[in-house]
Amino acid sequence: MWLPCAYANAAEDAAKAAESAPPEPPAAPAPQAAPAVGTWHIREVDGVEYLPLEDLRSFYKLMPMQPKGRKVAGQRMLGNGEVTLVFGPAPRELRIQERLFILSHPVQEDASGDLLVSKMDVLQVIEPVLRPTYIANRSAVRTVVIDPAHGGHDTGTVTPYAREADVVLVVALKLGAELKKRGYEVVYTQEHNQYMSPQGRVDKANAAPAAIFVSLHLNSGRSDMKGSQVYTLAPLEKGEKPLPGHDFSQSGIALALALQSSLVEKAETEDGGCRRAHYSPLNSLRCPGVIVELGYATNPEEGTRLSTEEYQLKLAGALADGVDAFARVMNPATNLQVQKAPVVETPPPAPVKVEPAPAKKAQPARQKAQPRKRAARRRAPARKNSRQQRRSNRRR
Ligand SMILES: [Zn+2]
Repeated sequence: MWLPCAYANAAEDAAKAAESAPPEPPAAPAPQAAPAVGTWHIREVDGVEYLPLEDLRSFYKLMPMQPKGRKVAGQRMLGNGEVTLVFGPAPRELRIQERLFILSHPVQEDASGDLLVSKMDVLQVIEPVLRPTYIANRSAVRTVVIDPAHGGHDTGTVTPYAREADVVLVVALKLGAELKKRGYEVVYTQEHNQYMSPQGRVDKANAAPAAIFVSLHLNSGRSDMKGSQVYTLAPLEKGEKPLPGHDFSQSGIALALALQSSLVEKAETEDGGCRRAHYSPLNSLRCPGVIVELGYATNPEEGTRLSTEEYQLKLAGALADGVDAFARVMNPATNLQVQKAPVVETPPPAPVKVEPAPAKKAQPARQKAQPRKRAARRRAPARKNSRQQRRSNRRR
């Protein structure tokens, strides 16, 4: 099942939404105004807008918490009994209810040791996960466009353990059969191991009514790499040209989370995270869409398992449950179970003018924070810069 807290929030928010019009973004705080709940103190770091963790804490009614068990250097945890957010140890890692998200921008630490989270990641990851009823373009799901990647002369990754095009086609057909049983319309981009261009796949998705797009792949990498990852379109950054897919940025991450949660819980994949990228079919979609990397064809154990019918059936069942979970949250008519949930009093942050970083907190916090920061840096894997990343994404 998807995040119980998300359902709970959705129920409470849905009840509120029924009473009042959709929330308007808050006005920019008056100069010199005392910080209050829902006031966002935006700071710019390297041209990126950031929000202090303290603002998130007060907006989502979260408290600083200690992770259970051994303390991991560089991790910072917030929670409230219903939901937990763990930032770190790598600067782009965030876990919400233990599910991993790779953020668009690394979290930063200011001079006083406070953590800063990019406004983009607050709006495009944290907000749609914690408050799915406010997802932009939220609407019922009727059609699932299933895209078995590759096909024909394009075999995808081929290893002694698994052939990508063959495995994803079998999983796709099993998923489609299951979804039809559950009452969904199913459209395959291809179902006979034929080659289809990326644009042809997008055209099929864009012609389907009330659709979501689920593209299935196998990953490749070092032989010890394993686990599932789900990609959705990278959100629109300042100065970039908007793409059709950007209208579904929030629903895309919600779909990624629903599928990834189900894969981890039901097919017992290792959680490789919900991620964002500019993969070609995602750019032009006019519906929520994801690329699911079901596992690594290059890992002897995982690749062998991916080639068994038993596991393919398990993956298809997990994906179908994930689609169901997403559809329930996206359907405005869904009668969600009401539970105690964090109550929020103000809508998500709106673009606000940059404020000078307030100098606060005494030295001890700074002294404590520094070793953590160094540890986080040590643990962070080497990353490509964004241009290299985009170039390599385009090659896929
Ligand atoms: Zn592939």
